Amino acid sequence: MRTLRLPLAALAGLLVLTGCPDKKSTATVDNTTAPAEIKLPNAPVFSGDSAYAFTAKQVAFGPRVPNSKAHVATGNWLVAKFKSYGLKVMEQPFEAMTFDGTLIKARNIVAQYQPQAARRVAIFAHWDTRPFADNDPTKKNAPMDGASDGASAVAVALEMARVLSLQPDSLAPNVGVDFILFDAEDWGYDSGTQADLKNQLEGAGDSWCLGSQYWSTHLLPANYKAEFGVLFDMVGARGAKFSREELSREKARFAVDKIWNTAAALGYTDYFLFSDSPGITDDHVYTNQAGIPTVDIIDHLPNNPEQYFPNYHHATTDNMSIIDRNTLKAVGQTVLQVLYLD
Ligand SMILES: [Zn+2]
Repeated sequence: MRTLRLPLAALAGLLVLTGCPDKKSTATVDNTTAPAEIKLPNAPVFSGDSAYAFTAKQVAFGPRVPNSKAHVATGNWLVAKFKSYGLKVMEQPFEAMTFDGTLIKARNIVAQYQPQAARRVAIFAHWDTRPFADNDPTKKNAPMDGASDGASAVAVALEMARVLSLQPDSLAPNVGVDFILFDAEDWGYDSGTQADLKNQLEGAGDSWCLGSQYWSTHLLPANYKAEFGVLFDMVGARGAKFSREELSREKARFAVDKIWNTAAALGYTDYFLFSDSPGITDDHVYTNQAGIPTVDIIDHLPNNPEQYFPNYHHATTDNMSIIDRNTLKAVGQTVLQVLYLD
């Protein structure tokens, strides 16, 4: 998904209407700041190997494009996997229309760790795959594996759930964790690559993020609240860079600082850059609208106004060859550790 959002000031009151983010809006990147020192309590070990295997497993199902057999099979596998870790799992089926007029059957998946805990943190990711590699230099209609864009984020969530489920009560965090996997995030209209196609949803809303749009207006669990949320998106590629994205800073600065300072304390400043980047349309737009202050951890190029995303984005090169256990580990260990702060 994801094109640049207009600067927030220009967007005031227009978020729901904007389906045409301005790709040419120039980057407003702040000066780099230094990390604040932070004392880390003990936390369990996140396995990059396990997260890698979870990524490969999803890719092996085939592209997780809504209405496909691979999509249904992957969804069933995710539900079973969370249940096998003892989490409380709920499914939220819905139908949606994509920009090209396809009626899709989709479902969001919610898995709760420590569902009785009053204090909660949400972990968001999208589990569907974009149906076409429209950013590919040559194969624009080809399917794509979505190894980083989709599978890696779900894999980090799954590995967090696995590790948490193994902890005895004495080593459990003081918060409950809700893993909320959105469907149909990535079948949106990209005006940069699909100008020859008609966006049939134009004027009717955002063609991206259909699962989080549905969830944000049909909260599951009902009246859902969390202290903050973390959205993983494209968190598995070798050499990934995560900057502090604009909407995340605007809505969840306290959580941005917790995450980035924790990453620095763990030695992951090669991945988590202390620099600011412009806004993106991603699922956090809707989770923030739902009142969950949400941080988007997403691989992007902070200082390049011409190209916001890496070359593999929406291309056939987004396959297992670009996935790196070390990136998965850096993201997963950092956010797992953040659950143990306070
Ligand atoms: Zn995408």
